[in-house]
Amino acid sequence: MQLIWLRSDLRLHDNTALSAAMQRGPSVAVYLISPGQWQAHDDAACKVDFWLRNLVELAQALSELNVPLLIRHADTWDQAPTVLLKLCRELGIEGVHANEEYGIHETRRDHDVAAALENAGIHFRSYLDQLFFKPGSVLTKTGSYFQVYSQFRKVCYARLHEAMPSLIRAPHAQQPLNIQSDPVPPAVEGYAPPSETLRALWPAGENEARRRLELFTDEQINYYQNERDFPAKPGTSQLSAYLAAGVVSPRQCLHAALMSNHGEFETGKIGAVTWINELLWREFYKHILVGYPRVSRHRAFRPETDAVQWRDAPQDLAAWQEARTGLPIIDAAMRQLLETGWMHNRLRMVVAMFLTKNLLIDWRLGERFFMQHLIDGDLAANNGGWQWSSSTGTDSAPYFRIFNPLSQSEKFDGEGRFLKHWLPELATLNKKEIHNPAIAGGLFGVANYPQPIVDLGQSRARALAAFKSLPQRQPAGGQHE
Ligand code: FAD
Repeated sequence: MQLIWLRSDLRLHDNTALSAAMQRGPSVAVYLISPGQWQAHDDAACKVDFWLRNLVELAQALSELNVPLLIRHADTWDQAPTVLLKLCRELGIEGVHANEEYGIHETRRDHDVAAALENAGIHFRSYLDQLFFKPGSVLTKTGSYFQVYSQFRKVCYARLHEAMPSLIRAPHAQQPLNIQSDPVPPAVEGYAPPSETLRALWPAGENEARRRLELFTDEQINYYQNERDFPAKPGTSQLSAYLAAGVVSPRQCLHAALMSNHGEFETGKIGAVTWINELLWREFYKHILVGYPRVSRHRAFRPETDAVQWRDAPQDLAAWQEARTGLPIIDAAMRQLLETGWMHNRLRMVVAMFLTKNLLIDWRLGERFFMQHLIDGDLAANNGGWQWSSSTGTDSAPYFRIFNPLSQSEKFDGEGRFLKHWLPELATLNKKEIHNPAIAGGLFGVANYPQPIVDLGQSRARALAAFKSLPQRQPAGGQHE
């Protein structure tokens, strides 16, 4: 008997471990509920709820293949070896199959599980699945991990030309086993279920992920290049939560994009090429996580930026978190995050720069808050995005290129449609005033809307000074520190 250990791969189609296990013989699936670990990782309540909802869908799909889904509890991952070994002994499991996950804790967990199982004569097999290329297989000529995205992408292109990662055929049904599936818990202690409104924005299941992918690649992908920066438009795929939980695979995304672009990924329609490049950003940051493990230990990619004198400003941090900075684009974006579990990419950059530059607050506090609220929270992408915005990361924004939230607002939400949606208290302002109500409302401002908590010009100068005084940039260290 084979055991499929499901983690961030909650789907039936194009699932490497699942198909490999079932090819070997009769299989059972297991999922570990690990609230203590999730707490330590700041996983958002809406994300945990999304996992559970997807597990319900997956359990149904698996039952059609006669694969029972078992649920076990391992509060933290250090309990995983014991819990899995016990299950393997109960069921007489010969091999355990899992798709690779990256990050220090994930790697340690899998190492310990593999050791415990192998000791007991049970094979542990892990598979490349959530990336196109195994980390460590896309390297510079001198054998180190890339630090510059465009160079990384170039090698990825060359590899894709050589061999396109192919989709894995969905497994056939097996003979029924005499093993009962466990019910998926509707909630996990410590994680309050999100509102029904939020849930309705992110329906669970592979069918929904496929529907979104088809909708996007059939039509919207052609406008992606032009529309992806405008938060009032549905210009992006909104697939990130599905990708992060593995309800859809990056290979499925790549193939769908290629289909819409006559098989080309580097040439052809600019929209499809740009979107594939985003899939490669996702890939890049996961490789960075493996190559430079310090980034998953809350350390800056650029060591010299550890010397930045971040402000200890709890009131400013709270104003940012609670969407009351007095800058509409920041507050509207933060409301979108709090109410939907998702934020538009352009706005993620804008609010992250505002926190780390204008408020000069440590990027780690923003990274953590995002993780605690994002339905698509992903260590590699979130850390990459925060370190990019705070100029502490690989290939990041140079410290002197600080976004001005007002010009970003005027440029990417010119009519104020996004602002009005999230800040109805500003609905009466015209499209000029709405970006900066402090000016519009004269001395007293707009009723029910706060004055800006910071002067943009002065705070910009403060940030420039804080970065300028840093010691010389040190070369970024390699993977063995
Ligand atoms: P699309 O534009 O349709 O892109 C398709 C897919 O490509 C996305 O679903 C995502 O998987 C990937 N992708 C796109 N942009 C990026 C990027 N810059 N980096 C890595 N992958 C990317 N993305 C997450 O998935 N999880 C996070 O926790 C996360 N945190 C972020 C924090 C900050 C500060 C910033 C600036 C960006 C962050 N991103 C994160 C990246 C990006 O904002 C989201 O992936 C994107 O907004 C998701 O919307 P979409 O699915 O419609 O994207």
